[in-house]
Amino acid sequence: MDQPCFFRGRRLRRTPTMRAIFREHHVRPEDLMMPYFVVDTDDQTLRKPIEAMPGQFQLSLDELDRQVGRAVALGLRSCILFGLPKVKDARGSGAYAPDGIVQRAIRRLKERYPDLLVATDVCLCEYTDHGHCGLLRQDDTSGEVSNDPTLNLLAKTAVSHAAAGADMVAPSDMMDGRVGEIRQALDEAGFTQVPVMSYAVKYASAFYGPFREAAESAPKFGDRRTYQMDPPNAREGLREAQADIDEGADVIMVKPGMPYLDMIIRLREAFDLPVAAYQVSGEYSMVKAAAANGWIDEAAVMLESLTAFKRAGAELILTYFAEDFLRLRAQAQGGNS
Ligand SMILES: [Zn+2]
Repeated sequence: MDQPCFFRGRRLRRTPTMRAIFREHHVRPEDLMMPYFVVDTDDQTLRKPIEAMPGQFQLSLDELDRQVGRAVALGLRSCILFGLPKVKDARGSGAYAPDGIVQRAIRRLKERYPDLLVATDVCLCEYTDHGHCGLLRQDDTSGEVSNDPTLNLLAKTAVSHAAAGADMVAPSDMMDGRVGEIRQALDEAGFTQVPVMSYAVKYASAFYGPFREAAESAPKFGDRRTYQMDPPNAREGLREAQADIDEGADVIMVKPGMPYLDMIIRLREAFDLPVAAYQVSGEYSMVKAAAANGWIDEAAVMLESLTAFKRAGAELILTYFAEDFLRLRAQAQGGNS
């Protein structure tokens, strides 16, 4: 017996059962939040494919209802809504209109699927004619959003979502002080039970490209680098998260996802709050495009990427793959999809 007595990691990898038993992380349906784009339109049959995001659509209210119904039947537990209003203006008034498209969508979904957690994106960029996430000074062409005057409108938006029945609001604007303003407004309006999931560590990322087609929210001029974070910065992300926590955030998010897994780990280690990750449009589209070319195994890459978020420490993953994951799971279980 002169076999070397070294660590043999392969022992626990020998069979599928062995691997299943010792697997450290799992993706479950409740880990995934599906984003939807709902359009204010008279055409209730609208189901417009988003070219840069194969499998994703801009949906009328009726079509959203049908789409969500199918997803809930497959096990979807939560979604986040983005709205495309009929009219945009300088103050993004569609964002906080009591009968705005997102407000109506919340009411419809909560009535039809009461157990589905309906979260909302709180921002102005889909509702402003200039496409920025807040108010601009008159004649501004640089896109440097006025921070403090924007806060009140974000708070109004969050309250209008809560009033329509939203289970959670998620400010994505990256204005300073917005979580505190939103928390206070929610509490004053009697919505003390509605949590705030802040896009705490959100970078000015090129991975958002396809989303801007989906949400028709590209800035008409300038860019978002004066309010979203500079991608090379990590310590700053901890300060951003700390600020949002101090202001009352219940969940802190990192966006984008895969290129910023390090930030998920940093937040996970630094704070006790749940951490969410947003696997953004560009991440989704790259997988879809490579798969369409036959270069990668789409299902395997999807699963591996979702699992990476769990391994990094995220409790919740916002992902356009949520429905695909549920369909795959149904097939694996022999159910029909
Ligand atoms: Zn925005």
